[in-house]
Parts: sequence; structure tokens; C-alpha cells
Amino acid sequence: MLSFFPTLYPDELLYSTLARYHIRSGNKSFKQTDLELFGYSSQQVCKITLTNNLNYLVKNLPLRSQQKVESLLQNHTLYPFYATFLMPQEAWLLKNSMSKKLSGSILDFVKVTTNSSDDSKKFLKFCPECLEKDTQKYGEPYWHRIHQVSGIVVCPIHGVFLHNSCVEVESKGINYHAASIDNCLLAKNVKNLTNNTVKTLLTVANDINWLIHSNFAFQGLAWLRAQYQRYLVDKGLLQTFAGGKFKFDDYGFAQLIFEFYGQESLEAINPMLAQHQGKYFSHCLFGCDVNPAIDRITHILMIKFLANSIEEFFQS
Ligand SMILES: [Zn+2]
Repeated sequence: MLSFFPTLYPDELLYSTLARYHIRSGNKSFKQTDLELFGYSSQQVCKITLTNNLNYLVKNLPLRSQQKVESLLQNHTLYPFYATFLMPQEAWLLKNSMSKKLSGSILDFVKVTTNSSDDSKKFLKFCPECLEKDTQKYGEPYWHRIHQVSGIVVCPIHGVFLHNSCVEVESKGINYHAASIDNCLLAKNVKNLTNNTVKTLLTVANDINWLIHSNFAFQGLAWLRAQYQRYLVDKGLLQTFAGGKFKFDDYGFAQLIFEFYGQESLEAINPMLAQHQGKYFSHCLFGCDVNPAIDRITHILMIKFLANSIEEFFQS
């Protein structure tokens, strides 16, 4: 049993608390910290955002600790983000795999592509204002969970651009790097965004945040595709014919969605969207239930555009 464990801060990523434990333990190697916390050392990918073997960790916490696996999962890992667009039984499998010692890959449960070519996803992110305020309030900075959610590019509290730290999210091998002024350096060439773009990015961040906390039962990707078709027909972008045939105006769709968010916002969220234009959107709209990976952010953007409200779309 651990002799101490740091108190988790509001919206702190569990990895961040473990990294603060590593510093306080005085351990010389990350491996030793891994052994103390989890009873073994694992090289699991996504360990930073989707920490597994939580049952062991919670049982191993000091006697007075009130911490529960469910609360760690829901409030301090990216589980609730990846649980979106998963059916209840699939979300349960993901939760189960994070609770236990995992032999396979967690990616089999989250349905994401591994070889992401988007650089912005590869480092832990931080908000300079949160960094400063946390240091004043708690005496040290920490990694916020919400800042690590893909698609969120501005801090939902301060509305400022998130910066990349020097800590890699998917690095091979074990590491426990707590946030510090040494690894949270301000980038010099930050693009100045218009007020409208910042407002849009903040709305998207709040939508994602809402979805993470909403906890509704997702009805499946086939249901999602049927919903899309209904909204596209209403908007005059899709014509359906007998025999299941349809005609989709992919160019028109891309034009309208770029108008809705603005090119600058979409590029800030996912630079790939601007390059692929309509073709990628049609792939997500009509192939979502056959594609093995789920691009959650593109779905959120399309839903908001089509229904004007994420909440309404999911509850209709
Ligand atoms: Zn902030």
C-alpha cells in the first residue's frame, strides 16, 4: 500500500497526479514509480490519457483515501470523451479494460486511428493562464484533462489558445512528467486569431465539454447515419431515390460547413478538414458505420452544423 498519494486537483489528468507522486516519492526511475503504483510496469499506448489497471491503483491507495475507480475514470481520464459515439456495451468494455491490467491494446476499444499525422495531438497541452493561476492557488501547475481533448484548441475557462508542452502524449516507454515551467514553454509564433474565430472555437470547446459530461446512451453508428440523412434531406443537400439510391451534394455541404464555422476555425481544429474538403465529410456522413475508426471531432462539427444543437440531435 502507498504511504501517501497527492490530492487530485479539479479537472486534473490522472497522469498528472501520478507524475506529482513520482516527484514526491523521490524515486530515481519511472519504472520504480510504475511498480509502486500499479504493481507492474507497462508500455501501454495512451497510458497518459487512458490509464489502465485502475482497480489495482485504487486498492493500493492509502487507507484514508476515498477515491473510487469510477470517479477517476469519469473525472480524470479521457474515458468520457472516448465513450462518446460508443454504444453502452462498447463503453462498458472500454471502462472494463481501463479498470484491469490490460494485455492487448486499449486502441481496440476506443476506435481511433493510431497513425495520426496531426502534430497538434502529440503533446500534452496547457493554457498559460491556468498555469499561472494554478501555481498561485495550489503552489504548482498541473495538466488539465479538458485541455487534452482533441478538437479543444482554446481554454474553455480563459478563451486563450492552448500551447503544446514538450511532453509527448504517445511516447513509447514509461514516463511521469509533471507540468512545470520547464516543459510548458510559450511558443513564440502563435497565430493571432480574429475575435470571431476565438468565439467559434470556444463554442466548439463548450459543445465537446457538454458531450463529455452528458452521459446519454448512444444509439449506434447506423442510427447516426440515418440521422444525418434525415437532416441532409431537410437541408436540401441530399436526394433519395427508390432502391436505396441517393445523390449527395458534397461540394455544397463543404461550402456551407466552412461558411458556418469559418475556414480559420476549422483549420485550427483540424487542418486535414480544409485539405480534403467535401470528400472527407461524405466519408464520415455515409461511411461512419462501416469505418473502423470514429473521428469524433468531425462528427461533432457536422452535428452542430446540421442540427444547430448537439443536445437536440442526440435526444431527437
Ligand atoms: Zn485556462
